[in-house]
Amino acid sequence: MLNFSVGPVQSDDYVLGIGGEQVPYFRTAEFSEITLFAERTFLEFLAAPQGSRAVFMTGSGTASMEAAVINCLSGKDKALIVNGGSFGKRFTEICAVHSIPFDEIRLPFGEPLKESDLAPFENKGYTAFIVNIHETSTGVLYDHALISSFCRRNNLFLIVDAISSFLADPLNMAEMGADVVITGSQKALACAPGMSLAALSPRALDRVYSINCGVMYFDYKLYLENGVRGQTPFTPAVGIIRQIAARLKTVKENGGVKTEVARTGALAAYFRKNIGGLPFSFFSKSPSNAVSSLTVNGNVSAYSVFTELKDNYGIWICPNGGELKDKVFRVGHIGALTEKDYDTLIGAFISLKNKGFFK
Ligand SMILES: *Cc1c(COP(=O)(O)O)cnc(C)c1O
Repeated sequence: MLNFSVGPVQSDDYVLGIGGEQVPYFRTAEFSEITLFAERTFLEFLAAPQGSRAVFMTGSGTASMEAAVINCLSGKDKALIVNGGSFGKRFTEICAVHSIPFDEIRLPFGEPLKESDLAPFENKGYTAFIVNIHETSTGVLYDHALISSFCRRNNLFLIVDAISSFLADPLNMAEMGADVVITGSQKALACAPGMSLAALSPRALDRVYSINCGVMYFDYKLYLENGVRGQTPFTPAVGIIRQIAARLKTVKENGGVKTEVARTGALAAYFRKNIGGLPFSFFSKSPSNAVSSLTVNGNVSAYSVFTELKDNYGIWICPNGGELKDKVFRVGHIGALTEKDYDTLIGAFISLKNKGFFK
């Protein structure tokens, strides 16, 4: 199968090789070195402010969404959440479960966040802002500068879910003034699913140490303490940490985060430029490099394009769920993909078109 989903995505061979090895015992100086390298490099790639730390937690991306909220916010906060799709909605559910007071900015699916969406919330006593900087469900990348200046003006603690954006779009934590940035192993990191990473600014660290998160497994304090010596409090997904470290090392050796972001951007541009003759329209008005979200012109269900490619062409694109199920499908640009892979995908679309599938 050729995989254009948005996660888990295709991995490079050296990453797959690690997945095929025996999992080593990990309470060793050798494994600590690997974890410390991964923490350093993750923070470097994010341009995290001086004094930041990273937490490596075993769990999918949502584990870090929840951990960030419960470790950094309390019942005394008032959070503002951008809800423009299923991942934004998830943050509202997390805050509701944990009794964190919040309001949401609901955006129509596919629409960017605008100054006028934020204006009603200026100087209204909020303490925190939570955003999925790339709302993967719709393919919308929100405006970093807009969010950054709103948060600075209103002195808001800023939690950024960059799960699908890290290594795909430019992201500068210090410049943005982000306090927490999270990502997962199975998106642009292109490793197996199961690890979730969070970068914490000094301001976030202060919050972590002043808040009782009320649970043990997700308590950042334990991860921070153990992380000083390159360890985790509990058995991590050891093999995936090794994959992440190898991937970060390779990106670093190949020119660093800028080069990797440019590579992803170039693949996205190649795909978008070459689908002109197909009956698709772009759904997102401000797309991330990570994914193209498309609607099908005419009466064909977007979901049926996904099943047709899966069953008859050996290709996974990414379907949508909920309200967008029949309207939108997505094509990912993250993972080990090449222009040739997009030629194959576009060839399959053309074949469907020639068969009359889109009529
Ligand atoms: C994939 C994703 C998540 C959650 O991922 P899981 O690993 O499935 O828990 C959260 N936020 C965004 C923006 C994502 O793309």
